[in-house]
Amino acid sequence: MTLVQAPQTYRSNEPIETLRRGCRGMQPLDARLEPWMVDLLANQPALLREAVARYGSPLNLISTTPFVRNIRELQAVAENRQLPFRVFFAHKANKCPEFIDAALSVHAGVDVASEQECRQALRRGASGEDLTCTAAVKSSSLLELCVENRITIVLDNLDELNTLRHVATRSRCDALAALRVSGFRHREQKLYSRFGIDVEELPDFAAQMLHRDTADRIHLHGLHFHLDGYCAAQRVSAIRELLPLVDQLRGEGHLIQFVDIGGGIPMSYLNEGEQWIAFWAAHQDAMLHRGEPVTYRNHGLGLTRFDDQLLGERNVYPFYQSPTRADWLDKILQTASRGGGTLAEQIRERELELRCEPGRSILDGCGITAARVEFCKRHASGDYLIGLAMNHTQCRTSSDDFLVDPLLIRRAVEGKSDVGQENMEGYLVGSYCMESDLISLRKLSFPRGVAPGDLIVIPNTAGYLMHFMESRSHQFPLAANLLCIDEKGTVMRIGASAAEELIP
Ligand SMILES: *Cc1c(COP(=O)(O)O)cnc(C)c1O
Repeated sequence: MTLVQAPQTYRSNEPIETLRRGCRGMQPLDARLEPWMVDLLANQPALLREAVARYGSPLNLISTTPFVRNIRELQAVAENRQLPFRVFFAHKANKCPEFIDAALSVHAGVDVASEQECRQALRRGASGEDLTCTAAVKSSSLLELCVENRITIVLDNLDELNTLRHVATRSRCDALAALRVSGFRHREQKLYSRFGIDVEELPDFAAQMLHRDTADRIHLHGLHFHLDGYCAAQRVSAIRELLPLVDQLRGEGHLIQFVDIGGGIPMSYLNEGEQWIAFWAAHQDAMLHRGEPVTYRNHGLGLTRFDDQLLGERNVYPFYQSPTRADWLDKILQTASRGGGTLAEQIRERELELRCEPGRSILDGCGITAARVEFCKRHASGDYLIGLAMNHTQCRTSSDDFLVDPLLIRRAVEGKSDVGQENMEGYLVGSYCMESDLISLRKLSFPRGVAPGDLIVIPNTAGYLMHFMESRSHQFPLAANLLCIDEKGTVMRIGASAAEELIP
């Protein structure tokens, strides 16, 4: 079976190799780069320099072209299996509203996690059907907004159900609800979550939602889960446990129409798996004092040394993994179900709509972050500390580090950008007054040097890295967000993203 073409990358061709040459990890981790990034960085660096000069550092640049392609890739999987299907973009992964517009343009919806995200999606033209609300904590005013707009509310607990009852009764509107389910059994163990209703308590919970009187306006029409991590087999276990419950709840009078498998669809940031393996081998050697450190002060990235052993788990995203996106989803759907046939067939026979809520993986290839170098200081240790007009919250998730090599765009000197210098090695440090404010913990090498006025570009930051942790400590303004519109080989146009509306 052929799915949508794999993303077009300029694998190992000339402009990309040139771009990578300026800055590499001591153990290289080459980023996957999209055509729009290469066009901007290799062919039109002056445009980027002007944008940073005008809008400040750091600067987030986004493109919605890969976003649409990534959604279509998932849709094609379901189409091939003749499965009713809808993607809901998890908006919390990036605040730029252009992604809402792009999602709606390909019949995807939006998963909103706050009242502000919900209002923003409505302002961009989303209808109630286009939205699903999975906020971890839901205020009455958020519930009111959802009820008024017929937005599906994914309920987490009994108090939320009771608040929703009050809201629906008061506003005399029907409420559409789904239940978030957790605690599935997987390989003899229960999958722990702070979220949702335990799968064993689900029938009792749902029974309380049966219409007791005509004033009861809450309709349970779907089941939902969102698991931590990216394990396909765990999703299989969850779907297997959920399908018989759909039958049971339908038998009890609930009109269950969909099963929503949440997000966590995996992606790869790196071009090559071998580099990923080599990086961890070198890091582990360094941790055991058998090799040179590849991280700042030998930071463990989750590992700790105890005698001559390493304990702990990697506290970083698996920046290279397989399968990803479409192949991962298809692998789940083609798994045999207990009732015979594949999971896809089981879902289809029940006339259920399959839903998912990817954030990170559909933002794959959709953003870069550029920051200006302000100083390069030689530390007494011999390493350089390269100071950026940026802080670590502007490129972070809950991972210890973003293990992808940045790119160096040199300042233009008398029309030339290739200012030759000596090799320099060191670390990118940020503008927060903390010893730990490093932009990346990895030791980097700059074979032809680096100097104030150069730009460091971090590839593929649209999913979470730009916005999830950004803070305004020291009263620094938040980074500006610009939209790149690729005008088919001509000059790229860059304009302010409407995300700027959010900043007072
Ligand atoms: C964060 C979140 C998502 C998106 O997860 P990704 O890992 O970005 O795909 C989807 N659904 C819920 C309920 C979430 O909390």
